[in-house]
Amino acid sequence: MSHKAGFVNIIGSPNVGKSTLMNALVGERLSIITSKAQTTRHRIMGIVSDEDFQIVYSDTPGVLNASYKMHEAMMKFVHTALVDADILLVITDVFETKMNNEQILEKLRETDIPVMLLINKVDLVDQAKVLERMEFWKTQLPKAEIHAVSALHQFNLEVVLSQIKKMLPESPAFFDKEEMTDKSMRFFVTEIIREKILENYTKEIPYSCEVVCEAYKDEGHIVHIRAEIIVMRDTQKGIIIGHKGERLKKVGTDSRKDIEKFIEKKVFLDLHVRVDKDWRDKESKLKKYGYTQ
Ligand code: GDP
Ligand code: MG
Repeated sequence: MSHKAGFVNIIGSPNVGKSTLMNALVGERLSIITSKAQTTRHRIMGIVSDEDFQIVYSDTPGVLNASYKMHEAMMKFVHTALVDADILLVITDVFETKMNNEQILEKLRETDIPVMLLINKVDLVDQAKVLERMEFWKTQLPKAEIHAVSALHQFNLEVVLSQIKKMLPESPAFFDKEEMTDKSMRFFVTEIIREKILENYTKEIPYSCEVVCEAYKDEGHIVHIRAEIIVMRDTQKGIIIGHKGERLKKVGTDSRKDIEKFIEKKVFLDLHVRVDKDWRDKESKLKKYGYTQ
């Protein structure tokens, strides 16, 4: 029996639903999702396998125009995703008027990699609007196959999946069939904590934080985790901790509950805050926190 396998890279503007889509396709909550833009900073893989195929999805940070060093590093993930795919899944939503990055649009027009364009969030508008969007994107990417979907309500995703299976090249599997992701438990711990920071603080605070998992010790009945929230300034440290440590405590409790759900074990989470001045603009720090490939 022939076997198909390949890499399906998901790209698109911030907030159009890339992470929601990948989670729906993979069936797990691998990529953190919030209503704030730029939630996904890294490339995250999600793997779906069956007897005769393996799809390796990559969720990427949103396409944007870089304004600081971390953005540049994030965009490198996007550019890599444009060339190392077997299939490109470009996501837009019914509200996006046009591709916000001309350079990426040009690359998508020129590439030999098959492109599938998904117009997401069709649950929010009427059919006329969806048809108008489909016409528009046909003019933008004439070679692409276009589908209207709702990642949140899992509408039309089976069509997407069956098309992906058709387009996959013949190849042996790249990962063990049991594997679901290329990322470690430590990585997911930091992603969950980052999600809780996004939910609990406003304005620039979440974007100034990085989370590092310093220790992950599985002791059978309980997992001991030590993690640090790294901020750029002392004032931010104060905000994160809050009056009598109440806000940090809330982030810790919310995170622990979700980590417990994710790893299906009891967790002891030891959470600290540390200042690392202007980490977001230093090459060496970005490397340390895993933003360079
Ligand atoms: P990303 O930045 O492209 O990864 O976008 P996310 O997956 O984080 O989603 C951004 C927001 O859009 C979240 O609030 C999602 O719940 C919402 N969203 C995603 N897909 C849909 C959809 O099909 N319908 C609706 N109504 N909302 C969606
Ligand atoms: Mg995302």
